Amino acid sequence: GQCSQVCPVGAITERNEVIEVLRQLDSKRKILVCSTAPAIRVALAEEFNADPDFNFTGKMVAGLRKLGFDYIFDTNFSADLTIMEEGTELINRLNNGGKFPMFTSCCPGWINMVEKSYPELRENLSTCKSPQQMIGAVIKSYFAKKLGVSTEDIIHVSVMPCTAKKGEAKRPEFVQKGKDGKNYPDIDYVLTTRELLTLMKLKKVNPAELADDKFDSPLGISSSAGNLFGVTGGVMEAAVRTAQIITGVENPIPLGELKAVRGLEGIKAATVPLKTKEGKDINVRAAVVSGGANIQKFLEKIKNKEVEFDFVEMMMCPGGCINGGGQPKSADPKIVTKKMQRMYTMDEQATLRLSHENEEIKQIYKEFLIEPNGHLSHELLHTHYNDRSKAIQDMSLHEKK
Ligand code: SF4
Repeated sequence: GQCSQVCPVGAITERNEVIEVLRQLDSKRKILVCSTAPAIRVALAEEFNADPDFNFTGKMVAGLRKLGFDYIFDTNFSADLTIMEEGTELINRLNNGGKFPMFTSCCPGWINMVEKSYPELRENLSTCKSPQQMIGAVIKSYFAKKLGVSTEDIIHVSVMPCTAKKGEAKRPEFVQKGKDGKNYPDIDYVLTTRELLTLMKLKKVNPAELADDKFDSPLGISSSAGNLFGVTGGVMEAAVRTAQIITGVENPIPLGELKAVRGLEGIKAATVPLKTKEGKDINVRAAVVSGGANIQKFLEKIKNKEVEFDFVEMMMCPGGCINGGGQPKSADPKIVTKKMQRMYTMDEQATLRLSHENEEIKQIYKEFLIEPNGHLSHELLHTHYNDRSKAIQDMSLHEKK
């Protein structure tokens, strides 16, 4: 995945961010908020040798609380929010026209690839920010408002399986205005899973020994569909669950039965029945691709019109975020399969398995966002993409001189 591209400087950046976060935790001058991606809990479960069907989420939250965070929120909540926004966007494109295939936009490795190498596909990308950036934006607006504080009073640390997420958090458009009129980043620091483990070691926190704890409200409840974002095919599976219900399909695919998008194969495809606003039955041609080489192969096929799709999930790391460049290194050749199985077990054990049934999702729309793809959603949860291919060409010209 991204790892090989960033490793030369990775060690230095890693140490700095851990030290910075340590300083924030020790000084306690600001309100410290942490959010965690789906892939973190399964990585920690493996790291601390938890039983395959043991859900480590409560221990992870307890560990973060012990580190000194004031509020701990779940990036899975914003994965559910992504499903609301991206599902609505897909349905709108199907009803009103737009660029197809529509590509998911939650993986910054993939976004970088489009901006640098396939800028002509920018309009095919969903305009949705990634779950990391969505929760960043709502913490520093909706949640800050609830606390009665300003954007700059909060420090938000995002824990990710991914080194490309550090670059994503630094994009200049992902900011909120403080009361002094200056821009403040939605995410202040991004720690990888490895860095979180370093932080826990430095502060002598062993989550496995702690009693289970719960995420804070109002950005802590999530469906197991949101959790599936951590694995290849998971965004598709979560989106299909909600889109089929919202559009009123008579016989939606039963939960857990969209098997064609599961597993470690690099390119997977499925046909998904949806309904148009006129009540016409349509078949959405869905594809799921993971791994940089598979993405290139797939895009060639699209370009040559060998295949045609309506909605495609793209992840740079083979297997998805569970196999991200920021995850702990493992000598176990089955580690990705094991993490994947944990994700599906968590889904089977969960009582809340649909993003649109999440009470905190309903609450944020009722109190704040009003409706998916509405005015405030566009301002806070959607984004645009740049053509960076020219900058890359200029750089290589420069190098040749
Ligand atoms: Fe990061 Fe996940 Fe994309 Fe890998 S697949 S680059 S871990 S977002």
